[in-house]
Amino acid sequence: MDEAAERFLAEVRAFARDVVAREAPAWAQGKRVDPAIFTSAAGIGLTRIEVPVAFGGLGFGFRTKVNACAILAAVDFGFAMALVNTHNVAKRVAISAPAQLARMLLPDLLTGRASACTALTEPGAGSDAGAMQCRAEKAPGGWVIEGEKTWIVNARHARHTIVYAQCAEPGQASGIAAFLVDLTDPACTQHAVDSAISQVSIGTGGFRLNRCFVPDERLLLPAGTAFKAILEEINGARIYVAAMNCAMVSAALRIAQSYGDTRQTFGKPLSHHANWREKLAECATALAAAWSLVEAALTAIDAGENVQHLAAAAKVNAVTLAQRELPMLLHAMGAEGLREIYLFARHIGSAQLAALTDGSTAMLLGRLGCWDPTPIQL
Ligand SMILES: Cc1cc2nc3c(=O)[nH]c(=O)nc-3n(C[C@H](O)[C@H](O)[C@H](O)COP(=O)(O)OP(=O)(O)OC[C@H]3O[C@@H](n4cnc5c(N)ncnc54)[C@H](O)[C@@H]3O)c2cc1C
Repeated sequence: MDEAAERFLAEVRAFARDVVAREAPAWAQGKRVDPAIFTSAAGIGLTRIEVPVAFGGLGFGFRTKVNACAILAAVDFGFAMALVNTHNVAKRVAISAPAQLARMLLPDLLTGRASACTALTEPGAGSDAGAMQCRAEKAPGGWVIEGEKTWIVNARHARHTIVYAQCAEPGQASGIAAFLVDLTDPACTQHAVDSAISQVSIGTGGFRLNRCFVPDERLLLPAGTAFKAILEEINGARIYVAAMNCAMVSAALRIAQSYGDTRQTFGKPLSHHANWREKLAECATALAAAWSLVEAALTAIDAGENVQHLAAAAKVNAVTLAQRELPMLLHAMGAEGLREIYLFARHIGSAQLAALTDGSTAMLLGRLGCWDPTPIQL
């Protein structure tokens, strides 16, 4: 990683520590994220990481994005997801939109004045995204889109969405295209989607497009290319979600380790009780393996290799680690771990969300059954 990327990540660390950590406990209690925080995040470059320099981006590589996501998620997974989703739309607009449209939309996205989302999931089609019902019909000069999307990161406040819609018969993955839609169009209605796990910072929401007219230049990815492109993008997302879950466990482990050195029970620090320490040791060992899998996926990407299986394995492994170890670490803190100032409860909820985003654990496991990861000739 070059010096500029290292400097950028140092700024992300300071931002996570000084701004996100201060706000995150209130977000977990349902407080709305102040839009000024998104603009501050954009100010240090968090919406520009992989966007080409020619479009006002930083032009860094995928690894830098993964590290930035992990640093933010160590404090608040939802906020990290919200930012990276806007970032990913900005990158797609820079790459795939006609230059004039890109130059019109990017300033607001890159400065955090507007947020954005990528929408596949519908009330009747989640895991089986190819079965989406949202339809796009050709009209003179554009397309008319009708349908509903739900459980979309940022959709409660996003200005722009890349919406996936079927242009052919339902169920045909090759008939799905991607359109850039302005959600302030009167033909769109937006709403928040809340979960019992308070994660306001992730901004989940949905929208309905009521025969929304979208001009031809907003067809970002035509049928035949869109579904393949989003599956590739989701492969990358699995790697940063894996890193984010590792980072959540790392942050929780560090807190428990240092608490264990100060909290006394039965006349000695918790960390001097072998069976207390053993639990943390098991967690640290599994965490090291999870980070290694993320690194293996990143190395494979750097080498231009197919990462489909590695990315899926890294995500499944990191998310199940977080689902298992975060409650253990909370328990290791005793009642103190339940306090709002700590991140345990917040991260436990986030791990449940992570298990569903960018390919659910069950769906990914279904694909990994035929994977042979043996690295040497036997
Ligand atoms: C916090 C959050 C953020 C999200 N952000 C986005 C976003 O930005 N954009 C977007 O498009 N979508 C987003 N989603 C939606 C997400 O992609 C879906 O939740 C996911 O694809 C699962 O779909 P579903 O919830 O409809 O579950 P269903 O498809 O109804 O499945 C229910 C359960 O059954 C399992 N299952 C389904 N089929 C099979 C099978 N064949 N074999 C074994 N198990 C199976 C699933 O894994 C799941 O556990 C988000 C979801 C969440 C929770």
